[in-house]
Amino acid sequence: MAEKKITIAGAGLVGSLLSVYLAKRGHKVEIYERRPDARKNLIDGGRSINLALSDRGLQALAKVGLEKRVLEEMAIPMYGRVMHDKEGNLSYQPYGKEGQAINSVSRAGLNMLLMDEAEKHGVELHFSQACDSVNLEDATAVFRNREGEQKEVISDLLFGADGAFSAVRGVMQKTDRFSYSQEYIDHGYKELEIPAGPNGEFLLEKNALHIWPRGNYMLIALPNPDASFTCTLFFPMDGDPSFASLDSVVKARAFFEEQFPDALALMPNFDKEWEENPDSSLVIIRCYPWTRNGKVALIGDASHAIVPFYGQGMNAGFEDCFVLDELMEQMGDNWEDLLKAYEVSRKPDGDAIADLAMRNFVEMRDLTGDPDFLLQKKIEGRFSAKHPDKWTPLYGLVTFSPQVRYSDAQALGNRQDELMAEIMAMPNIHEIWDSPEVEAKMLELAERLQD
Ligand SMILES: Cc1cc2nc3c(=O)[nH]c(=O)nc-3n(C[C@H](O)[C@H](O)[C@H](O)COP(=O)(O)OP(=O)(O)OC[C@H]3O[C@@H](n4cnc5c(N)ncnc54)[C@H](O)[C@@H]3O)c2cc1C
Repeated sequence: MAEKKITIAGAGLVGSLLSVYLAKRGHKVEIYERRPDARKNLIDGGRSINLALSDRGLQALAKVGLEKRVLEEMAIPMYGRVMHDKEGNLSYQPYGKEGQAINSVSRAGLNMLLMDEAEKHGVELHFSQACDSVNLEDATAVFRNREGEQKEVISDLLFGADGAFSAVRGVMQKTDRFSYSQEYIDHGYKELEIPAGPNGEFLLEKNALHIWPRGNYMLIALPNPDASFTCTLFFPMDGDPSFASLDSVVKARAFFEEQFPDALALMPNFDKEWEENPDSSLVIIRCYPWTRNGKVALIGDASHAIVPFYGQGMNAGFEDCFVLDELMEQMGDNWEDLLKAYEVSRKPDGDAIADLAMRNFVEMRDLTGDPDFLLQKKIEGRFSAKHPDKWTPLYGLVTFSPQVRYSDAQALGNRQDELMAEIMAMPNIHEIWDSPEVEAKMLELAERLQD
């Protein structure tokens, strides 16, 4: 492959991983990042401090030799969900088959590891440099430092890995036939913490993702290596109850006492965190095309920002890098065709995971509320455990099956739901769910799923 000079805007999770891929293919890569170097100034700004890394992300890390290191150095496997009801009763649902897990990793830790790895491969990182403007014809970009000084960077190719509010995309938005939509959902989020216990122990089950589903809202918690849990309350921004209605710590505490008493009891800094941590918005961004003139391309959240309820935003962005690399392997130097192929291939998957993530929100919030939904999951799970080659539930397709595209997983999931409606309509299904009769019907449905 002929060496290209490639500039990436954004040294977030996706930009950093992309740079490793490109450097490994022999290109000269530079990244310009708006923020200061997180390795020197620890920053997290109240954003989610841990994320669920699953098989699509792991597959992309494996291709550049990083999967094992990330799993060994910073991941806590979560084998299932622990649901907490209002009375403090717990119930457990495994995520997949025996041994399958999603992994809680530190956002900052993973980002720093990827930046270190980029530098090891000769990538030059420039910090406190915000992309200001881009020439889409020749991939020239202007970056501005904190003092306001501008620098023009000329390269063969420019990638916008600059997140949901991408400056590179902002320039593309002003061009003809660029489609764009931005949707703020009604819910936002706030982070809270359950610290480690007095002896440095985990105060909740360590190897699980905890959920307090409450209908229109929910609290979740993911474990950290220091035995704390990062909790995220997903909550309406307006209405009653909402961030707007809980406008004092006193009201918020009373609300938690009623809805999440077991979690509140483990949050000694609740008052301070409620006041100081921001109420953050959640946005879905779709756009197309993702590339221009074979010279400029969007990747990660810059091209598809989704809501976090499937734990797939970063995983999808990592998968973008993986797919782009496959195309580099197949198509060599023809960047114009290669970038076209990349956007044509990835757009349906970006759209699919955006829809799936929203759908999972409804499912997670309702987890304990809807006995039919729970039963359907139980029947599918049981059948899949017995006949793994015949049926993989949608969650498994999205999370543990990187060989299945998101768009195919979505289509299969829809078909499964149609078929499962026949099971759920069987008389007395709540009594006979584990009977040979139901299994026989599932076998028939599995046959039809293949059609
Ligand atoms: C609450 C929450 C929980 C989440 N949980 C999960 C999860 O469990 N699993 C998962 O897979 N995903 C999760 N996500 C999604 C995930 O955070 C994103 O998909 C992921 O961070 C996208 O990576 P990125 O590199 O594309 O963008 P970002 O992480 O946003 O990085 C973009 C980078 O570009 C920089 N930048 C921005 N503008 C400019 C500019 N003009 N010039 C130069 N640099 C610029 C930024 O400073 C940043 O470093 C979650 C998101 C949220 C909000």
